[in-house]
Amino acid sequence: MGDASDAGLPVKRRVGPDGIHLFDRRTGLNVLFDEVDVPETQWTRAPRQVSIALTNACDLACPFCYAPKAAAMLDADRLCAWADELNAEGCLGIGFGGGEPTLYRRLPQVCRHVAEHTSLAVTMTTHAHRFTPRLIDALAGAVNFVRVSVDGVGPIYEELRGRPFVELVQRLTWIGRAFRFGLNCVVNLRTLPDLDAVSDLAATTGAEELLLLPERPARGRPGSSPNVVAALHQWITDYRGPVALTLGAGDSGSLPIAQPLPSETGLRTYAHIDASGTLRRSSYHSTGEPVDERGVLAALERLQQKDVA
Ligand code: SF4
Repeated sequence: MGDASDAGLPVKRRVGPDGIHLFDRRTGLNVLFDEVDVPETQWTRAPRQVSIALTNACDLACPFCYAPKAAAMLDADRLCAWADELNAEGCLGIGFGGGEPTLYRRLPQVCRHVAEHTSLAVTMTTHAHRFTPRLIDALAGAVNFVRVSVDGVGPIYEELRGRPFVELVQRLTWIGRAFRFGLNCVVNLRTLPDLDAVSDLAATTGAEELLLLPERPARGRPGSSPNVVAALHQWITDYRGPVALTLGAGDSGSLPIAQPLPSETGLRTYAHIDASGTLRRSSYHSTGEPVDERGVLAALERLQQKDVA
């Protein structure tokens, strides 16, 4: 279990049904002592990872966006308090998203608080177009991993994201000099033919990871068809590139994927807090529990009980 005394240390310890798990936020190294049988009463209470939508605001208009469009933004002091609580309860990392997290004015201050007062890894999902040398300086050392949304190259990228591809490549070069980073790719009929080019882009820019995200149904769009998902799985099977591939939970189908912590499931693994402060099982779930003055863990327990009832 994590505790307040480990604040600021890079290596985090977490215990659960799979054993004792050590995590180093600087390198992303995970070590699991699975021969240790830990009684359930000692299991870590917090989810392993929590994503937080800082704001619903975004300056792009991607056709497949499922982020809520109602104006909402989290208070920075609440965010810091939640990070402290999650850290003390054994969470390993928080991922800031949105909307677009770089539109959140106090992003550098919140990231620095987490870096200096907790052992949580900070990740961020961004379209990257607001990464300037100044913002990079403000975030350097306070963000452990940056996930950049890239669903195609050249004209397909520009059609979907509405920004010059050459500017994206410039931002990736800057980001790669300051942070470990990966690419997130929404896969649908339009982007599927660009997967080779996106994986080449990941390799040439120094990305460590390519996260493949079959498009989810949202706002009248049906999401990726079974044929697209089957073609994606075939592409993954044939892939021989140097960049590690990852898939979102529930997207692996019959693919043989590594499951290092098979017994840690559901809310033990992951939870999402939206920009209005509601804790949900994921950003795709429409219902949840508000995080009030009792904190994140109290909301988590209410959500668990609600699901049991
Ligand atoms: S960049 Fe992300 S949040 Fe913004 S419109 Fe596109 S998908 Fe939505």
